[in-house]
Amino acid sequence: MTAIAAGFCGTVGHTPLLEIPSLSSATGCRILGKAEWLNPGGSVKDRAALFMVLAAEAAGKLAAGGTVVEGTAGNTGIGLALVAAARGYRCEIAMPENQSPEKIELLRALGANVRLTPAVPFSDPNNYYHVARRLAEELPNAFWADQFENLANAESHYQTTGPEIWQQTGGEVDGVVMAAGTGGTIGGVTAYLKAQNPHLVTYLIDPQGSGLYNYVTTGSLAAEGSSITEGIGIRRLTANFARARLDGALQGSDREVVEMAHYLLHREGLFVGSSAALNAVGAVRLARKLGPGKTIVTILCDGGNRYQSRLFAKDWLAEKGLQPTAQGLEFLD
Ligand code: PMP
Repeated sequence: MTAIAAGFCGTVGHTPLLEIPSLSSATGCRILGKAEWLNPGGSVKDRAALFMVLAAEAAGKLAAGGTVVEGTAGNTGIGLALVAAARGYRCEIAMPENQSPEKIELLRALGANVRLTPAVPFSDPNNYYHVARRLAEELPNAFWADQFENLANAESHYQTTGPEIWQQTGGEVDGVVMAAGTGGTIGGVTAYLKAQNPHLVTYLIDPQGSGLYNYVTTGSLAAEGSSITEGIGIRRLTANFARARLDGALQGSDREVVEMAHYLLHREGLFVGSSAALNAVGAVRLARKLGPGKTIVTILCDGGNRYQSRLFAKDWLAEKGLQPTAQGLEFLD
């Protein structure tokens, strides 16, 4: 066997699992993060993008010269644009206009045709999800990836992320916690890990404005407000989220996201995005819930460079009244 990967697609996954030492010592647990920003397209969504394209090819839904269409907050589009290039397809992306300019510019640079849609709720026909579906209907030889309902998304995590966590910890993992966007990661990872060990504790952490915390704790998707986080938090049940096997849910605020993102950068040298920061908040909360001596795994979904003009920009944070002030972890009650 050689150690040479087969192009872009061959380098998706197999990310390091790293300890976040200061969070471990603050909680008495071992806090581990799956370094998903080290995927070749820079996020956890490379895994889903690859599996959705391979599944479409296998099902005869995508053939040479075809077009991959998706509605995406960014990372899935970046993964799809690269997988499409590597496998000979065009890529069309519908994306809400309120996403970070870094992600929009990157998608265009990668060769995707990006259509910005108004940032309207799912019930509005101009929501990016519906725009993508219509686009795929209109274009010849087009395949709509449909990451929310396409179960190849959660399957990518059931077949790769979950097993990697199990192997990297030698099965010594007591809890996992993460946020959900489509629910693919949490669906696949929790289903796989619970099948290995039914006693392993699985939690969702939900941002402000999402309906999933209420759904898990009360059965209702009701939600109010909004969040500065990108790519996570929804107000409907998706097929991928429905695959998740969860013991409970936690919440984290925008203030905690900002403080944690800056804490991880300055204290640990980990430059990660807002969902990864929320996940780290979730890891600390779950550690406190389970008590010392446990191993908790979370997902570090993408890198901070995708949010340089927002989460890591003084002016933007000041405008939102969210300048980080914490010296340590005192922002976590
Ligand atoms: N974090 C970021 C930055 C994302 O873009 C996404 C996907 N939208 C997620 C987390 C959530 O992943 P999933 O879709 O698997 O729930």
